Amino acid sequence: MKLAILADVHGNLEALTAVLEDLEKKSVDRVSFLGDAVGYGADPVPCLEMLEKSVSRFVAGNHDHAAAHEQVCLEDLNEDAAVALQWTRCVIPPDAKDRLRRLPMDFHDDEAYLVHGSPFKPDRWEYVLSAQDADKGFGACESRVTLVGHTHIPAAHVEVECKRLFTGMMRRIEMADPESLQLEPRCRYILNPGSVGQPRDGDPRAAYAIFDPQAGRYTIQRVSYDVEKACTKIRKAGLPEDLAERLKSGN
Ligand code: ZN
Repeated sequence: MKLAILADVHGNLEALTAVLEDLEKKSVDRVSFLGDAVGYGADPVPCLEMLEKSVSRFVAGNHDHAAAHEQVCLEDLNEDAAVALQWTRCVIPPDAKDRLRRLPMDFHDDEAYLVHGSPFKPDRWEYVLSAQDADKGFGACESRVTLVGHTHIPAAHVEVECKRLFTGMMRRIEMADPESLQLEPRCRYILNPGSVGQPRDGDPRAAYAIFDPQAGRYTIQRVSYDVEKACTKIRKAGLPEDLAERLKSGN
């Protein structure tokens, strides 16, 4: 079985379209989405609709949640994110907001546990960046493979069980190269596919992952798309210039 794992589209229709076209060539069995369909980009509604048609698992991201719940305070976000969310709230029609409101916070599959931020209290939207973050996440879930988004950076955190004389089993958290990963039977994983619509690892191409649970293979895919067009739309919508610039740099 081949699963496509997408996260953090953020209203970038050009990036999402390019990824979905790429997927047609890869004959995947299922597409899962780890949240943040909207926010930052100029096409929140078309992205939401396209995702609804293409994915079979869809969990809420913090931007989806904030866009659909007017009472969510935007003060904790950075200024660009807050401005973009305010704009997003204005352009999303009520029925689309209803659909965003109904998104689950997480999803348990046979193959993996899906959540936008850390598995530790999903509604707190914590990041899994460090080994400590990952340790907290592993402690909060039992699944062997957890798929997360939110950081916009491809990552693989591994919980390794190691036998120690006298002390018995110990756990150790390691980071592995997410680009091409072979899963080991005795380990647990928190894996991030990177971001479709706003990559932050210095590579401006759209990122997603292909996961084959039976073979234990996880690989990051990169797809070039029309970044200029996405930037022009951001400017035309009156959204902050930095949101266009960061698409070009991938940071
Ligand atoms: Zn995001």
